[in-house]
Amino acid sequence: MKAVAVFPGKANSIHLANLPMPSVNDIPGERGVLVKVLRVGVDGTDKEINAAEYGQAPEGYDYLVTGHESFGRVVEVGSNVHSVAPGDYVVATVRRPGSSIYDVIGTNDMTTDSVYFERGINLRHGYLTEYYVDDMEFIVKVPAALKDIGVLLEPTSVAEKGIEQAYEIQRRLKVWRPQRAAVLGAGPLGLIAALALRLRGLEVTVMARTEPPTTNSQLAEAIGARYVSTKQLSITDAASKYGPFDLMFEATGVSAVAFEAMGALGRDGVLVLTGISGAGRSIEIPGDKIMLDFVLGNKVVVGSVNANRTYFERGVYDMALAQAQYPGWLKRFLTHPVNGLEGFNEMIRLLTEEKNAIKVYVEVQPVRSFPVG
Ligand code: BGC
Ligand code: ZN
Repeated sequence: MKAVAVFPGKANSIHLANLPMPSVNDIPGERGVLVKVLRVGVDGTDKEINAAEYGQAPEGYDYLVTGHESFGRVVEVGSNVHSVAPGDYVVATVRRPGSSIYDVIGTNDMTTDSVYFERGINLRHGYLTEYYVDDMEFIVKVPAALKDIGVLLEPTSVAEKGIEQAYEIQRRLKVWRPQRAAVLGAGPLGLIAALALRLRGLEVTVMARTEPPTTNSQLAEAIGARYVSTKQLSITDAASKYGPFDLMFEATGVSAVAFEAMGALGRDGVLVLTGISGAGRSIEIPGDKIMLDFVLGNKVVVGSVNANRTYFERGVYDMALAQAQYPGWLKRFLTHPVNGLEGFNEMIRLLTEEKNAIKVYVEVQPVRSFPVG
């Protein structure tokens, strides 16, 4: 069967590879779930993998099948699988366990191992292929009513984890009742974080460079969030005007933004960093000032990567709630479909050049026409 792959370490090596068809029996203990891939979303990580800035092939291979934002339908299950059945829509998690205690208890997203395994990113093949098989532990059911937006569950899980981390940490305050949040970045992750915060009842200010109106600014406003262009108002000034911010969520991956956010965080506030900057930039910051305010204001900054199945499950709840509260909003993310796995060049072109894209995704099989069973 066909798969989209890269030769890690070799820039622009994206190509069609040929993989053997997987079988439920590839997974021990009758726990296998065989899934037909319907859609796969792509993001900056995929772009970096094709630019050879990121990603490693699984052992025994010179190529890595890419794609970590999956959506598919169960074809066959092992006899010990009861959580999903053939015909169910599902999304697979990304990270696979290593050996630390966190991996052993199902929280592989918190691993302390230096090597991490991520399907479609590092040392494990991804989902840009026709079928995949995995252990039922990593397969999350999506209700059929959410099938049109199910491909957004993986980025949603990353936002859910970041926010959940903030709430967990703030239990230190006994009575934390966050009112105002800021989200830095208006890409899919930032917008989904804004959604999750609006669903939790917070007033949300989304900040990004581009001046409105853009699709992104309109999406933010459609859920009652405020959109601020940092060309018109800096993060620091926005905090004086619309803050103090109890929770800030960084989703740009630009370190200058992260440190300005540290300076703009409210007292007792928490700043969650989820963006990744691989660029290796050095920047100058008002270190003493930030440090002083952090100590005097009991502030927290926390990094958050990936998500385990708990956050995917939470994501399903929020997607359902979003459909009830802001019907059709998530579907507006799906701006740029690519037809079939053969469209991999177009996929990379859209990822690199299409500034108006919210989400580029590959339509591996049409979601609507695939027959039940
Ligand atoms: C993925 C995460 C992953 C991270 C680091 C992101 O693009 O969505 O699941 O953990 O990259 O590899
Ligand atoms: Zn991603």
